Amino acid sequence: MIPYGRQEVTQEDIEAVCEVLQSDFLTQGPGVPRFEANIAEICDVPFCVAVNSATSALHIACIALELGPGDILWTSPNSFVASSNCALYCRAAVDFVDIDPITHNMSLTALKLKLQLAREKGKLPKIVIPVHFAGEPCDMPEIYALSQEYGFKIIEDASHAIGARVADSPVGSCKYSDITVFSFHPVKIITSGEGGMLTTQSEFLSARLQMLRSHGITRDPSMMSGNADGGWYYEQLILGLNYRMTDIQAALGDSQLKRLQTYIQARHDVASQYDVKLRDLPLIRPVRNPENLSALHLYVVGIDSSKTKVSRKTVFDALRLAGVGVNVHYIPIHLQPYYRNLGFKKGDFPNAEAYYNNAISLPMYPTLSCEQQKYVVDMLKQVLV
Ligand SMILES: *Cc1c(COP(=O)(O)O)cnc(C)c1O
Repeated sequence: MIPYGRQEVTQEDIEAVCEVLQSDFLTQGPGVPRFEANIAEICDVPFCVAVNSATSALHIACIALELGPGDILWTSPNSFVASSNCALYCRAAVDFVDIDPITHNMSLTALKLKLQLAREKGKLPKIVIPVHFAGEPCDMPEIYALSQEYGFKIIEDASHAIGARVADSPVGSCKYSDITVFSFHPVKIITSGEGGMLTTQSEFLSARLQMLRSHGITRDPSMMSGNADGGWYYEQLILGLNYRMTDIQAALGDSQLKRLQTYIQARHDVASQYDVKLRDLPLIRPVRNPENLSALHLYVVGIDSSKTKVSRKTVFDALRLAGVGVNVHYIPIHLQPYYRNLGFKKGDFPNAEAYYNNAISLPMYPTLSCEQQKYVVDMLKQVLV
């Protein structure tokens, strides 16, 4: 089976992990701060906080920005459920902004319109989470300008987008947001097994996030409410969780990070090949904004129903049968039964639904060989023409 995404683990990665296993610290040692410092450098951002998943990162980002009952969070329906579940963990309300039919990211037009209406009703969101779908950055300068006008906070869900650039800065710099979140799940750009990272320019948010990932505890005397009883002393100041990353995970992530640029280049090479090889097929190919640099986490094509009668399901089943592990990203979040029970229904976000009905994610990862890619294209041709 050729999967849609796949990690690469090198001998160097294995040695980095083994070194931790033989050291004094499996967790809370020097590995996590080292990984954080290296992510901070490539993202050109002062503060990084590592956690055990992007889901955890989104959760504590919402807590740090004081999302709670009575508040509203907006995100894209074309994402993994974690992008919106974080609001529900905080007992806040969630709503979605429909997507742009070309980029498949949150639509700027829809966002502007929804903000105008929300202001009239007094129901503005406290937080908006743009998702850099497939690694293609959202129009962050514009979203940031809207946040200034309407007074909402921004968490970038950059689970797909480490190594990407938006306008003049790396994704993760938080030039246009309060917090950015990365995922290091094995299907993502680089992996730590499981893992996530938060980046921010705010020292205050960084300190809060560090406490939130570890029970709300601090050992920093300057943050304590009273005097330390002694060298053992710590204080719990807020209600936190145990969302810590281990040093074992950090060592793997940090070792993988060295290949980030190589990986992004390799993904662009794969995408360029698809762009050419799929040109004559009845498929809508993904677009990349030349002003940004996509991380190309996914290569999603749409079945062009104006040119073929072959359905997405037929293509999906034929490719799976041929050993090509195609996938679909994403079932619109609002159509999940859990969300329907909250009151969402079919028709609420028509662009996300129309996109979903024809979308199919082709194999896309740095070690996908030319022969494998040719096989994927040949199988597509067989079913489509
Ligand atoms: C993978 C993913 C997440 C969750 O990441 P985990 O590290 O698995 O928790 C969140 N949002 C998006 C868009 C993702 O693709």
